[in-house]
Amino acid sequence: MSSIPKTQKAYILTQGVEKLSLEDRPVPELKPGEVLLRVRASGLCHSDLHILDGSISLSSLCSLPASPILGHEIAGEIVAHGPNVDPDLFPTNQLYSVFGPNPCGLCSECRYGRDNLCLSPTRLIHGLGHPGGFEQYTAVNIRNLVKVPEGISPEVAAVTSDAVLTPYHALKKVYLTGLSRVLIIGLGGIGINAVQIAKAFGAHVTAFDLKESSRELARKFSADVVLDSLTVKEASHDYDVVVDVVGIQSSFEIALKQVKTYGSIVLIGLGSPVLNFFTTPLCLKETHILGTFWGTSQEQIEVFDLVKKGKIKPQVEVGKFEDLNEFFQKLKHGQIKSRVVITQTD
Ligand SMILES: [Zn+2]
Ligand SMILES: [Zn+2]
Repeated sequence: MSSIPKTQKAYILTQGVEKLSLEDRPVPELKPGEVLLRVRASGLCHSDLHILDGSISLSSLCSLPASPILGHEIAGEIVAHGPNVDPDLFPTNQLYSVFGPNPCGLCSECRYGRDNLCLSPTRLIHGLGHPGGFEQYTAVNIRNLVKVPEGISPEVAAVTSDAVLTPYHALKKVYLTGLSRVLIIGLGGIGINAVQIAKAFGAHVTAFDLKESSRELARKFSADVVLDSLTVKEASHDYDVVVDVVGIQSSFEIALKQVKTYGSIVLIGLGSPVLNFFTTPLCLKETHILGTFWGTSQEQIEVFDLVKKGKIKPQVEVGKFEDLNEFFQKLKHGQIKSRVVITQTD
């Protein structure tokens, strides 16, 4: 593996500084069970923005010292195998996505198959504690490698590992059928995939967003009804499931009003750290409020199957590694319609 350099370029986070700095860093040394990925694509997520503007501190997400390298939607190719890794099982001529939650595999949640909720105090999420994809080379334990089916590009593979997996996991929790009526609030990078997933499950889908460009995408992906800010007040109040991809007080209040008796509100967006609600109507309707976090490693395999079959077409806007900070500014100012992915070529 003589072609692997000793140093690489990596974007470094400094607490309180909104711009990431591009620096020379050592290429990671591999521990037993790890491979070295040449990163080909990394997605930019709103949670990265929260870290950059200081509203979420990286140290609050992990008990161990956090790496300053963000990027939790990663796709790449193996360029080196660490000790105890069989190269025949993990070939180099293959694209992989990374299962970001980086679970221990041993705790009770992992053993129940809910490895997105791993309880290990020492686990570090890729790009949110563990070094992420905003570098040229990254070390990944083989248990976090998910093979990407042929024909799926690195940029689509990267976003599938979060922006598709997250709404898929959320909607699987509510067991949709062909009779289910679903309202999706917020049609950005995650919401537009939620529309496609709910349609793939056979549900009747109503999509709502304040932005016309987002509503246009929802129409393209066959939402049954598309609403703007005015008409949502007149909507039917009989949704079995309301998916709140925004997670601020006003979106949550729409969800509470529109969900039917005994229906479910699935909260994906973390737009506000606190949400308020009146207890009496909630109890009288026996509303279920479900928290949801990312997805399981098995579900990451399932979403690739859906993307491969064309049931979900993740929307991406592609940029260059060198322009990462510029794209974060665009994301911050609402100038991104779908999901930005930065790509790296040799
Ligand atoms: Zn994310
Ligand atoms: Zn675990």
